[in-house]
Amino acid sequence: MQKMSDGELFVLCQKYGGEARRWKRKFATLLPEVEKRRLWEKKGFYSLEHFAKVIGGMGESTVRVVLSVYRRVEDKPLLKAEIEKQGFGKVGAVASLPLEEEKLVEMVQTLSKGTLEKYRKDVLLPGYQPVTTLKIDKKIEFRLKKYRQKLGKQEKRPVTLKETLSILLDQVEEKPMVRKSKPSKDGKRYISASDRCRIEEEYDGRCAMCDDPYTEIHHPDRFAKYGTHKRLVPLCKHHHQMAHAGLIENEYDDPRDWRLRDQMQPNSIDRKYVSVIKSTSL
Ligand SMILES: [Zn+2]
Ligand SMILES: [Zn+2]
Repeated sequence: MQKMSDGELFVLCQKYGGEARRWKRKFATLLPEVEKRRLWEKKGFYSLEHFAKVIGGMGESTVRVVLSVYRRVEDKPLLKAEIEKQGFGKVGAVASLPLEEEKLVEMVQTLSKGTLEKYRKDVLLPGYQPVTTLKIDKKIEFRLKKYRQKLGKQEKRPVTLKETLSILLDQVEEKPMVRKSKPSKDGKRYISASDRCRIEEEYDGRCAMCDDPYTEIHHPDRFAKYGTHKRLVPLCKHHHQMAHAGLIENEYDDPRDWRLRDQMQPNSIDRKYVSVIKSTSL
C-alpha cells in the first residue's frame, strides 16, 4: 500500500467501487422476487427492508427506490432489462415518462443519470413549451419573409422567422447585441473574452435552458461545419449533453425557445460529448 502511487490507488478505488456497485445492483434485482415469495418471512426476517439490510447491506430508502422502479417498468420489459446494465437511478429517471419504450431505452443507454433526470424534469414541466402566436397582417408578413430571405442569403443558411425578428429588434433597440463575432483567425476552438463577456451578460451567467450556472459553451451551428463562433449558447452540462444527443428540435431558434424532442436523433449524436457516464448510484 505504501509504495502505491496516488494514480494507482485511485485506479484500484475505481475498480473495486465499480465492482461493488455492480454486485449491489445484482442483489437489488433479486428483491422483487424475494418480496413476491415473501422469502424474508420464511427466513425469519421482520420485513423485506430488514432482509435487505442484513443480507445485502442495503438501506431502507434504496429498497423502496428499487421496488418502485420495478413497479414502474412492469409493462416495459425492454426498459426493465436495462436495470441491471444501467442501474436503477437511470432507469428510474425516465420510467414514468409517457414515451415509447424503445426511445427510453436508447436514452438510458446514451445519456448520463443527471441528464436523464433533467430531461424528465423538462418534459414534465407544465407549460414547458410555450406557444407564442403573433398575429400579423399579410403585408407585414410579406415584408418579413422578404427580409428573412435576404438574411438567409447573407448568412448562407436558413434563418427562421423568429431569428429574423430578433435581428430586426437588435438593430432598433438602444444597446444592440453584438451578433456578429469575428471568425477566429486560425479556426481554433477558442472563444474570445469579449464573446464570453457578451454571453455572460446576455444569459446572466446561466444555462440558456434552465437556471443552473452555465458550464459549457455550445455552438448550435456546429463548429466543425463552419469554423466560426457565430452563435454561442451557454449550457449546463446536462442540457449540453441533450443538445449533442439530438434532443433539441429547433437549434436554430433562440435557445430560450428551444423545445425537446421525444427521441434522440441517431445521426446527430456526438459521442465526444455524449459519453455514457456510468451511473454512480446503484
Ligand atoms: Zn456543444
Ligand atoms: Zn441547463
